[in-house]
Amino acid sequence: MKKTIRDIEVRGKRVLVRVDFNVPLADDGTVADSTRIKAALPTIRFLQEQGAKIILISHLGRPKGRVVEDLRLDQVARCLSDLLQQEIAKVDECIGPEVEKACAALEPGEILLLENVRFYPGEEKNDPEFAKALSRLADIFVNDAFGTAHRAHGSTAGVAAYLPAVAGFLLEKEIDMLGRALADPQRPFVAVLGGAKVSDKIKVITNLLPKVDALLIGGGMAYTFLKAQGHGIGNSLLEADKLDLARDIMARAAERGVDLFLPEDVVATDLSSDAAHQTVAVTEIPPGLMGVDIGPKTRARYGQVIAGAGTVIWNGPMGVFELEPFAAGTRSVAEAMAKCQGITIIGGGDSAAAVKKLGLAGAMTHVSTGGGASLEFLEGRELPGVAALLDEDARECSPGARGKDGEGNA
Ligand code: ADP
Ligand code: MG
Repeated sequence: MKKTIRDIEVRGKRVLVRVDFNVPLADDGTVADSTRIKAALPTIRFLQEQGAKIILISHLGRPKGRVVEDLRLDQVARCLSDLLQQEIAKVDECIGPEVEKACAALEPGEILLLENVRFYPGEEKNDPEFAKALSRLADIFVNDAFGTAHRAHGSTAGVAAYLPAVAGFLLEKEIDMLGRALADPQRPFVAVLGGAKVSDKIKVITNLLPKVDALLIGGGMAYTFLKAQGHGIGNSLLEADKLDLARDIMARAAERGVDLFLPEDVVATDLSSDAAHQTVAVTEIPPGLMGVDIGPKTRARYGQVIAGAGTVIWNGPMGVFELEPFAAGTRSVAEAMAKCQGITIIGGGDSAAAVKKLGLAGAMTHVSTGGGASLEFLEGRELPGVAALLDEDARECSPGARGKDGEGNA
C-alpha cells in the first residue's frame, strides 16, 4: 500500500493535487457531467480542513501538447466553484514565474486551478524539466487521478520524483478495492469478461485465470471461443488468429479446475435497420447472422453463478448494449451483480457506463473511475502513477519515492 494524505502533515503546505477533471463538455462549453469533479471532492475537502493550500492540476481532452482554446479549464473552475460554494482561482498556465507567484500567495484552505496540463508537450513526454517546473509550485504532491495512473506523464509520475508524493482518497479507494479483490478475494471468485475483442482482454484473462473459480465469457469475444469449439458463428465477430489462444485458455481453465462458461444461446441479427433479431442456440447460429448478445438461457445461467459468488469482477459488456434490443444480456449481468451479496466490482469504461445508465452503480461495491487504468490493473500491471508514490512503510516523507534502488518501488 501507498502513503495517503492521511499519513502526511499538510497544514500550511502548498499541495499540488493531480485530479481527473477530464469531463465531457456540452456544446456551449459548460461541464455536461460533473461526476469526475465530484469524485475529487473528498480529497479537496480533507485538504481544506487540514489547512493546506491547494493547487489542482488536470488534463482535459487531447490537445496534444498545444493550446486549444475550447479545452481550457475555465468552465471546470466554474463547476468546481458551484460544487464547493467557494471562489476558485484559475490561471492560464501550469508552470512559470506567474503561476509560482499565485501558488506562493495562497492562504490555507484556498484553491487554485491550473490550466489544462496537456497543453504542454512535456506532460505526455514525461519530460523531467517539465516535472521539475511543476514541483517548484508545491511542497507535497498528491495523486488522485486514477484514470491516468496507467500513464507515466509529468503530472502523474514525473513530479513525484521531486516532491514527497502520496495518494488521494479516490486513488486509494481504487487500488484498495481492485487490489484486495485480486490479492485476497472472498470466494467463490467470479470474473465476467466481455467486450468486443479477445485481443483487448488477453492479458486480463491470463492474469485472472489462476485466481478465479469461474470465468463467464460474453460479448464479441465469446464467438472466437465458440468457433474454437467447432461451432458455426455466422457473421459474428471472429479473430481468426486468436483461435489457438482461445483453445489454450480453455485447456488451462480445465487443468486448473476453473469453470469456464461460454454462451449456450445468443441473440443474432442481420443488422437491418429495424434490428430484426432472433434467439438461437450456439449450435444453430444461421450463416449470415451476427451474434450481438447473450441469450435468455445464458443470462439465467450467468445470473446463477453471480448470485453465489463471494467476489465478482466484471469487465466488458455482454452484447452491443448501445442498441436497446441487444442490451438485455448486459442488463441481466448488472442486475445479478446488484443483487449479489458478495463484493462486486466493475472495471472498464463501457461496462461502468452501462451500469450507470441502468442506475445500478450505487448497488455495486465499487465502480472504477478509470477505464484503461482499471484494465491495466486487472492485467496485473503496476501503474506508473501509483508506483511513483511513497510506500506506506517508508519511514519519512522524503522526495524521491524512486530513491534508493534507482527505480519505482513496487
Ligand atoms: P470496456 O470499455 O468495459 O472494457 P470494451 O471496450 O472491451 O469494454 O467493449 C465494449 C464494446 O464491445 C461495446 O462497444 C460493445 O458494443 C462491444 N460488443 C459487445 N458485444 C459485442 C458483440 N457480440 N459483437 C460486437 N461487438 C460487441
Ligand atoms: Mg471500452
